[in-house]
Amino acid sequence: MEVAETIHEMRQRRRIQGINRVVGVVPTMGDLHAGHLRLVDFCRERCTFTIATIFVNPLQFGPKEDFANYPRALARDKAELERRDVDVLFAPSIDEMYPGGQSGHANVTVPNLGDELCGAARPGHFNGVTTVVTKFFQITQPDMAFFGEKDWQQLTIIKRMVQQLNMPVEVIGVPTCRERDGLAMSSRNRYLTREEREVAPALFQTLREVATHLHEGSTKYADLEESAANKLREVGFRPDYVAIRDPDTLRPPSSNQDPVRVFGAARLGRARLIDNIGVER
Ligand code: AMP
Repeated sequence: MEVAETIHEMRQRRRIQGINRVVGVVPTMGDLHAGHLRLVDFCRERCTFTIATIFVNPLQFGPKEDFANYPRALARDKAELERRDVDVLFAPSIDEMYPGGQSGHANVTVPNLGDELCGAARPGHFNGVTTVVTKFFQITQPDMAFFGEKDWQQLTIIKRMVQQLNMPVEVIGVPTCRERDGLAMSSRNRYLTREEREVAPALFQTLREVATHLHEGSTKYADLEESAANKLREVGFRPDYVAIRDPDTLRPPSSNQDPVRVFGAARLGRARLIDNIGVER
Protein backbone atom coordinates (compact mmCIF):
# COMPACT_ATOMS: atom_id res chain seq x y z
CA MET A 1 0.00 0.00 0.00
CA GLU A 2 1.23 3.45 -0.85
CA VAL A 3 0.59 6.35 1.47
CA ALA A 4 -0.03 9.78 -0.03
CA GLU A 5 0.06 12.74 2.32
CA THR A 6 -0.17 15.48 -0.28
CA ILE A 7 -2.78 16.17 -2.95
CA HIS A 8 -0.03 16.18 -5.55
CA GLU A 9 1.12 12.66 -4.57
CA MET A 10 -2.46 11.40 -4.51
CA ARG A 11 -3.17 12.85 -7.95
CA GLN A 12 -0.03 11.27 -9.38
CA ARG A 13 -0.98 7.84 -8.02
CA ARG A 14 -4.46 8.26 -9.46
CA ARG A 15 -3.28 9.52 -12.82
CA ILE A 16 -1.03 6.55 -13.54
CA GLN A 17 -4.03 4.24 -13.18
CA GLY A 18 -5.45 5.85 -16.33
CA ILE A 19 -8.89 4.81 -17.49
CA ASN A 20 -8.40 1.06 -17.35
CA ARG A 21 -9.10 0.68 -13.67
CA VAL A 22 -12.34 0.98 -11.75
CA VAL A 23 -11.34 3.30 -8.94
CA GLY A 24 -13.16 3.22 -5.61
CA VAL A 25 -12.76 5.54 -2.64
CA VAL A 26 -13.64 4.92 1.01
CA PRO A 27 -13.57 8.19 2.96
CA THR A 28 -13.08 7.83 6.73
CA MET A 29 -11.94 9.75 9.78
CA GLY A 30 -9.76 6.82 10.86
CA ASP A 31 -9.70 4.86 14.10
CA LEU A 32 -10.88 2.05 11.87
CA HIS A 33 -13.23 -0.68 13.07
CA ALA A 34 -15.02 -3.56 11.35
CA GLY A 35 -17.65 -1.16 9.91
CA HIS A 36 -14.98 0.79 8.03
CA LEU A 37 -13.34 -2.43 6.91
CA ARG A 38 -16.64 -3.67 5.51
CA LEU A 39 -16.65 -0.55 3.32
CA VAL A 40 -13.15 -1.44 2.17
CA ASP A 41 -14.27 -5.02 1.40
CA PHE A 42 -17.24 -3.72 -0.60
CA CYS A 43 -14.88 -1.47 -2.52
CA ARG A 44 -12.37 -4.21 -3.24
CA GLU A 45 -15.13 -6.50 -4.51
CA ARG A 46 -16.39 -3.91 -6.98
CA CYS A 47 -13.28 -1.94 -7.96
CA THR A 48 -9.82 -2.71 -9.25
CA PHE A 49 -8.11 0.16 -7.46
CA THR A 50 -9.02 0.99 -3.87
CA ILE A 51 -8.27 4.30 -2.21
CA ALA A 52 -8.99 4.85 1.49
CA THR A 53 -8.83 8.31 2.99
CA ILE A 54 -8.22 9.17 6.63
CA PHE A 55 -8.87 12.76 7.61
CA VAL A 56 -10.49 14.13 10.74
CA ASN A 57 -12.24 17.01 9.02
CA PRO A 58 -12.42 20.08 11.26
CA LEU A 59 -15.06 21.64 9.01
CA GLN A 60 -17.71 19.12 10.07
CA PHE A 61 -17.27 19.59 13.83
CA GLY A 62 -19.14 22.27 15.76
CA PRO A 63 -17.19 24.55 18.12
CA LYS A 64 -18.29 22.55 21.18
CA GLU A 65 -17.85 19.13 19.59
CA ASP A 66 -15.14 16.51 19.98
CA PHE A 67 -12.69 17.47 17.20
CA ALA A 68 -9.70 17.74 19.58
CA ASN A 69 -10.50 14.46 21.35
CA TYR A 70 -11.64 12.46 18.33
CA PRO A 71 -9.72 9.14 18.44
CA ARG A 72 -6.70 9.00 16.15
CA ALA A 73 -4.83 5.76 15.47
CA LEU A 74 -2.96 6.21 12.20
CA ALA A 75 -0.29 3.53 12.70
CA ARG A 76 -2.85 0.85 13.52
CA ASP A 77 -5.15 2.02 10.71
CA LYS A 78 -2.31 1.78 8.17
CA ALA A 79 -1.62 -1.82 9.22
CA GLU A 80 -5.34 -2.74 8.87
CA LEU A 81 -5.61 -1.18 5.41
CA GLU A 82 -2.39 -2.83 4.30
CA ARG A 83 -3.77 -6.19 5.42
CA ARG A 84 -6.88 -5.52 3.30
CA ASP A 85 -4.78 -4.82 0.20
CA VAL A 86 -5.82 -1.22 -0.14
CA ASP A 87 -3.83 0.35 -2.98
CA VAL A 88 -3.45 3.91 -1.68
CA LEU A 89 -4.11 5.54 1.65
CA PHE A 90 -4.62 9.29 1.33
CA ALA A 91 -3.99 10.85 4.73
CA PRO A 92 -3.52 14.60 4.30
CA SER A 93 -2.85 17.17 7.02
CA ILE A 94 -5.32 19.95 7.80
CA ASP A 95 -2.98 22.46 6.12
CA GLU A 96 -2.88 20.35 2.99
CA MET A 97 -6.69 20.31 2.79
CA TYR A 98 -7.33 23.89 3.97
CA PRO A 99 -4.13 25.82 3.19
CA GLY A 100 -5.82 29.20 3.57
CA GLY A 101 -7.64 28.15 6.73
CA GLN A 102 -11.19 26.98 7.07
CA SER A 103 -13.02 30.25 7.29
CA GLY A 104 -13.72 31.68 3.88
CA HIS A 105 -13.30 28.29 2.26
CA ALA A 106 -15.67 27.43 -0.60
CA ASN A 107 -18.60 25.46 0.65
CA VAL A 108 -20.89 22.81 -0.85
CA THR A 109 -24.43 22.89 0.50
CA VAL A 110 -27.27 20.47 -0.22
CA PRO A 111 -30.37 22.41 0.85
CA ASN A 112 -33.09 21.02 3.12
CA LEU A 113 -31.82 17.48 3.69
CA GLY A 114 -29.00 18.83 5.83
CA ASP A 115 -31.33 20.75 8.15
CA GLU A 116 -33.29 17.67 9.28
CA LEU A 117 -32.49 15.15 12.03
CA CYS A 118 -28.78 15.39 12.90
CA GLY A 119 -28.53 18.67 10.98
CA ALA A 120 -30.82 20.30 13.54
CA ALA A 121 -28.59 19.22 16.44
CA ARG A 122 -25.33 19.85 14.55
CA PRO A 123 -25.73 23.05 12.48
CA GLY A 124 -23.23 23.22 9.60
CA HIS A 125 -22.16 19.62 10.07
CA PHE A 126 -23.36 18.34 6.71
CA ASN A 127 -21.88 21.32 4.84
CA GLY A 128 -18.55 20.29 6.28
CA VAL A 129 -19.14 16.74 5.10
CA THR A 130 -20.27 17.62 1.56
CA THR A 131 -17.42 20.09 1.18
CA VAL A 132 -14.71 17.64 2.19
CA VAL A 133 -16.26 14.77 0.20
CA THR A 134 -16.33 17.02 -2.89
CA LYS A 135 -12.66 17.78 -2.35
CA PHE A 136 -11.88 14.06 -2.01
CA PHE A 137 -13.80 13.33 -5.21
CA GLN A 138 -11.85 16.06 -7.04
CA ILE A 139 -8.55 14.74 -5.73
CA THR A 140 -9.12 11.00 -6.19
CA GLN A 141 -11.46 11.05 -9.24
CA PRO A 142 -13.24 7.84 -8.24
CA ASP A 143 -15.73 5.82 -10.26
CA MET A 144 -17.39 4.63 -7.06
CA ALA A 145 -17.52 5.86 -3.47
CA PHE A 146 -18.58 3.86 -0.43
CA PHE A 147 -20.47 5.19 2.59
CA GLY A 148 -22.06 3.44 5.56
CA GLU A 149 -25.81 3.19 6.11
CA LYS A 150 -25.12 3.84 9.79
CA ASP A 151 -24.89 7.50 8.72
CA TRP A 152 -28.00 7.27 6.54
CA GLN A 153 -28.59 11.00 6.42
CA GLN A 154 -25.01 11.57 5.28
CA LEU A 155 -25.39 8.86 2.63
CA THR A 156 -28.65 10.42 1.39
CA ILE A 157 -27.14 13.91 1.24
CA ILE A 158 -24.09 12.69 -0.67
CA LYS A 159 -26.27 10.81 -3.15
CA ARG A 160 -28.31 13.98 -3.71
CA MET A 161 -25.16 16.09 -4.09
CA VAL A 162 -23.70 13.73 -6.69
CA GLN A 163 -26.96 13.68 -8.61
CA GLN A 164 -27.59 17.44 -8.53
CA LEU A 165 -24.00 18.46 -9.25
CA ASN A 166 -23.55 15.77 -11.93
CA MET A 167 -20.53 14.26 -10.26
CA PRO A 168 -19.45 11.17 -12.25
CA VAL A 169 -19.36 8.96 -9.16
CA GLU A 170 -21.56 6.02 -8.20
CA VAL A 171 -22.37 6.22 -4.49
CA ILE A 172 -22.76 2.84 -2.80
CA GLY A 173 -24.38 2.43 0.63
CA VAL A 174 -23.02 -0.33 2.86
CA PRO A 175 -25.14 -2.00 5.59
CA THR A 176 -24.35 -1.18 9.21
CA CYS A 177 -21.85 -3.37 11.00
CA ARG A 178 -22.91 -4.12 14.58
CA GLU A 179 -21.45 -5.51 17.77
CA ARG A 180 -22.94 -8.81 18.91
CA ASP A 181 -25.43 -7.02 21.17
CA GLY A 182 -26.66 -4.84 18.30
CA LEU A 183 -24.75 -1.64 19.02
CA ALA A 184 -23.70 -0.03 15.73
CA MET A 185 -19.92 0.12 15.54
CA SER A 186 -18.56 3.63 15.84
CA SER A 187 -15.29 5.29 16.77
CA ARG A 188 -17.29 7.25 19.34
CA ASN A 189 -18.18 4.05 21.23
CA ARG A 190 -14.73 4.47 22.77
CA TYR A 191 -16.09 7.37 24.81
CA LEU A 192 -18.45 5.03 26.71
CA THR A 193 -17.63 3.88 30.23
CA ARG A 194 -18.13 0.21 31.01
CA GLU A 195 -21.54 0.96 32.53
CA GLU A 196 -22.59 3.10 29.56
CA ARG A 197 -21.44 0.42 27.15
CA GLU A 198 -23.92 -1.98 28.80
CA VAL A 199 -26.75 0.51 28.25
CA ALA A 200 -25.75 1.55 24.70
CA PRO A 201 -27.46 -1.32 22.78
CA ALA A 202 -30.80 0.06 24.05
CA LEU A 203 -30.67 2.59 21.20
CA PHE A 204 -30.82 -0.14 18.53
CA GLN A 205 -33.32 -2.17 20.59
CA THR A 206 -35.62 0.82 20.95
CA LEU A 207 -35.50 1.57 17.22
CA ARG A 208 -36.26 -2.10 16.58
CA GLU A 209 -39.31 -1.92 18.81
CA VAL A 210 -40.58 1.07 16.83
CA ALA A 211 -39.92 -0.89 13.64
CA THR A 212 -41.94 -3.82 14.97
CA HIS A 213 -44.92 -1.57 15.74
CA LEU A 214 -44.70 -0.08 12.23
CA HIS A 215 -44.42 -3.51 10.73
CA GLU A 216 -47.57 -4.53 12.59
CA GLY A 217 -49.41 -1.63 10.99
CA SER A 218 -49.23 1.23 13.50
CA THR A 219 -49.32 4.67 11.89
CA LYS A 220 -49.24 6.68 15.12
CA TYR A 221 -45.81 8.06 14.30
CA ALA A 222 -45.75 10.83 16.90
CA ASP A 223 -46.77 8.46 19.71
CA LEU A 224 -44.20 5.87 18.70
CA GLU A 225 -41.45 8.50 18.51
CA GLU A 226 -42.33 9.97 21.87
CA SER A 227 -42.55 6.71 23.75
CA ALA A 228 -39.25 5.54 22.23
CA ALA A 229 -37.52 8.77 23.33
CA ASN A 230 -38.98 8.30 26.81
CA LYS A 231 -37.66 4.74 26.96
CA LEU A 232 -34.21 6.00 26.05
CA ARG A 233 -34.45 8.65 28.79
CA GLU A 234 -35.45 6.00 31.33
CA VAL A 235 -32.25 4.02 30.75
CA GLY A 236 -30.00 7.09 30.90
CA PHE A 237 -29.80 8.51 27.37
CA ARG A 238 -30.40 12.16 26.49
CA PRO A 239 -32.15 11.72 23.14
CA ASP A 240 -31.83 14.33 20.37
CA TYR A 241 -34.58 12.63 18.41
CA VAL A 242 -36.34 9.43 17.47
CA ALA A 243 -37.95 10.00 14.09
CA ILE A 244 -39.83 7.96 11.51
CA ARG A 245 -39.00 9.32 8.08
CA ASP A 246 -39.11 8.74 4.35
CA PRO A 247 -35.75 7.09 3.52
CA ASP A 248 -35.09 9.37 0.52
CA THR A 249 -36.53 12.76 1.41
CA LEU A 250 -36.03 12.38 5.19
CA ARG A 251 -39.42 14.08 5.59
CA PRO A 252 -42.19 12.68 7.81
CA PRO A 253 -43.94 9.97 5.79
CA SER A 254 -47.63 9.69 5.01
CA SER A 255 -49.58 6.99 6.84
CA ASN A 256 -49.50 4.50 3.95
CA GLN A 257 -45.93 5.09 2.84
CA ASP A 258 -43.68 2.10 2.38
CA PRO A 259 -40.82 1.63 3.11
CA VAL A 260 -39.98 4.02 5.94
CA ARG A 261 -36.94 4.36 8.15
CA VAL A 262 -36.58 4.85 11.89
CA PHE A 263 -33.78 7.18 13.00
CA GLY A 264 -32.42 7.83 16.46
CA ALA A 265 -29.70 10.01 17.97
CA ALA A 266 -29.00 10.20 21.68
CA ARG A 267 -26.26 11.24 24.02
CA LEU A 268 -24.93 8.80 26.57
CA GLY A 269 -22.23 10.18 28.83
CA ARG A 270 -19.65 11.83 26.54
CA ALA A 271 -20.83 10.00 23.44
CA ARG A 272 -23.46 10.96 20.91
CA LEU A 273 -24.72 7.76 19.31
CA ILE A 274 -26.80 7.45 16.14
CA ASP A 275 -28.52 4.55 14.47
CA ASN A 276 -31.31 3.81 11.99
CA ILE A 277 -33.19 0.86 10.56
CA GLY A 278 -35.40 0.29 7.54
CA VAL A 279 -38.98 -0.94 7.79
CA GLU A 280 -41.04 -2.52 5.05
CA ARG A 281 -44.72 -2.87 5.82
P1 AMP B 1 -16.32 7.86 10.02
O1 AMP B 1 -14.88 7.46 10.13
O2 AMP B 1 -17.10 7.69 11.27
O3 AMP B 1 -16.50 9.21 9.35
O4 AMP B 1 -16.98 6.82 9.02
C1 AMP B 1 -16.45 6.62 7.74
C2 AMP B 1 -17.41 5.82 6.93
O5 AMP B 1 -17.63 4.56 7.58
C3 AMP B 1 -18.78 6.47 6.79
O6 AMP B 1 -19.27 6.25 5.49
C4 AMP B 1 -19.61 5.75 7.81
O7 AMP B 1 -20.99 5.72 7.51
C5 AMP B 1 -19.03 4.35 7.74
N1 AMP B 1 -19.29 3.62 8.96
C6 AMP B 1 -19.04 4.02 10.24
N2 AMP B 1 -19.48 3.11 11.12
C7 AMP B 1 -20.04 2.11 10.39
C8 AMP B 1 -20.68 0.88 10.71
N3 AMP B 1 -20.84 0.49 11.98
N4 AMP B 1 -21.13 0.10 9.72
C9 AMP B 1 -20.98 0.50 8.42
N5 AMP B 1 -20.37 1.64 8.05
C10 AMP B 1 -19.92 2.44 9.01
